[in-house]
Amino acid sequence: MRILVVGGGGREHAICWALRKSPKVQELYCAPGNGGIASVAECVPIQVNQFEEIAQFALDHTIDLVVIGPDDPLSEGIVDHLEGKNITVFGPRQNAAIIEGSKVFTKQLLKKYNIPTAAYESFESYDEAVAYLRKQQAPIVIKADGLAAGKGVVVAQTLEEAEQALHEIMVAKVFGDSGNQVVIEEFLTGQEMSILSFVDGETVCPMVPAQDHKAVFDGDKGPNTGGMGTYTPLPHIPQSVIEESIETIIKPTAKAMVAEGRPFRGVLFAGLMLTPNGPKTIEFNARFGDPETQVVLPRLKTDLLDIFLAAVNGRLDQMNIEWSDEAAVCVILASEGYPGPYPKGLPIEGLDQVQDAIVFHAGTAVKDGAIVTNGGRVLGVTALGKDIAEARAKAYAEADRIRFQGKHYRSDIAKKALV
Ligand code: AMP
Repeated sequence: MRILVVGGGGREHAICWALRKSPKVQELYCAPGNGGIASVAECVPIQVNQFEEIAQFALDHTIDLVVIGPDDPLSEGIVDHLEGKNITVFGPRQNAAIIEGSKVFTKQLLKKYNIPTAAYESFESYDEAVAYLRKQQAPIVIKADGLAAGKGVVVAQTLEEAEQALHEIMVAKVFGDSGNQVVIEEFLTGQEMSILSFVDGETVCPMVPAQDHKAVFDGDKGPNTGGMGTYTPLPHIPQSVIEESIETIIKPTAKAMVAEGRPFRGVLFAGLMLTPNGPKTIEFNARFGDPETQVVLPRLKTDLLDIFLAAVNGRLDQMNIEWSDEAAVCVILASEGYPGPYPKGLPIEGLDQVQDAIVFHAGTAVKDGAIVTNGGRVLGVTALGKDIAEARAKAYAEADRIRFQGKHYRSDIAKKALV
């Protein structure tokens, strides 16, 4: 079969890497791809928002399946656009991708169907939001309604900080129209857990759970990033809590989306907080998580293409998806300065010295035949092992073989899981 993956980060590298293992994949393209994806797929210079060009490429190359990686094109309706031209696509339509695209929509959905989440109020008026906020207590959480490149959530430690966040989102409009509405939400405490699931309507096939590290520095210090590392499984979280999350949150949400006439087909990503009062929803994403995908897919034993095809044909209920018992740890190597401004185009050395890890490229490019940095998150080094300790030791040993100027990584990825 001929497959086109849309996107160009570590997530798409992991998807292409997993698809390459399928004996059914004849041709694999990635638009636009990156310096590392080029080693497993043919990179095509089309950007993820160029729907017309993507459709034309799919038709010209008789593509059997298009897989959409990132959130922006999903929210903008790329699946509807391609399906309108009779192209088969794995990913949610626009009316289902709203589960990530609008936090107000999702909070209302969860409330309507009694699915556990933080208590909240939503506002269209800045003055009303401020008046409400002043009667609350800190810490408190402020969320821009729409997509904000992962930066639209402020966990405010004081009411002043919360008010400043409201002003930035609703008045200064630092996230543009994504700040037309805002959610003010109760602060939850507990362990965080991500569960990604393959979903086709009501059928939910959960993947193995993972944990991300959002803050840029060790000990969860510094500003939030796209994610500095992940690991799976979560040995410190009881299986019963994982099951409870699936039964009380993920399956009811898929069912609710069907009931609302917005059946979700694709990867549904649940960000969960395991509070003293049980698991609660923090957020849903409408696609594979980045970097969760870089640890989850290396544990997948079933052919990923078979799963995608089952999902697009509404046959996920007939799939028996298998996972390896190994642990996986991914350490992200970032550019100096990230998540603020950072340099690009720096040579990367030592990639050929990596022996026992998979190196997923997040932000790299090929310049004069050599791999150079081209993003904030540059590489994800994923190692597998019999347990977290082994996978973690390998991931760090292999990450140290790779060199570029200003390379930064967290040294405490998966430390919590060393039980
Ligand atoms: P999100 O972009 O929705 O994933 O939120 C980013 C991060 O903010 C999450 O990973 C949590 O650490 C934190 N967060 C979001 N909502 C809450 C909440 N209600 N209580 C505590 N922390 C939260």
